[in-house]
Amino acid sequence: MSEKIEKTDEEWRRELTTDQYRILRKKGTEFAFRNEYWNNHDPGKYLCAGCGNELFSSDKKFDSGTGWPSFWEPESKDAVEVEVDESHGMRRVEVKCARCGGHLGHLFEDSPTPNGLRYCMNSGSLKFVKK
Ligand code: FE
Repeated sequence: MSEKIEKTDEEWRRELTTDQYRILRKKGTEFAFRNEYWNNHDPGKYLCAGCGNELFSSDKKFDSGTGWPSFWEPESKDAVEVEVDESHGMRRVEVKCARCGGHLGHLFEDSPTPNGLRYCMNSGSLKFVKK
């Protein structure tokens, strides 16, 4: 991973779309089954929509049945950071882009994947680049 990216709220607001800003910078979420990548099966990479950091690959994407793009492992260990999130009366693990700090989604330990992990991401946080 390259250097951290820090921008003012105003810069982010200018550069991102309304949805990207709401999700990445304000920890928003999007509707299940009504987002861009939940059902995308094309081979390729998923970059951070905020900074282009390579976050996930189609190789480790799986059908979780949740209606959000789900992966069992990030592209590299230091691509993302996790943090305990106690908002909305729940205790969850938030997943953030390690480079720009953008909110990506949450991490759950309930999946049938090899390591039992489910990175439940927002499509709006990602930018897919087809192989
Ligand atoms: Fe980022």
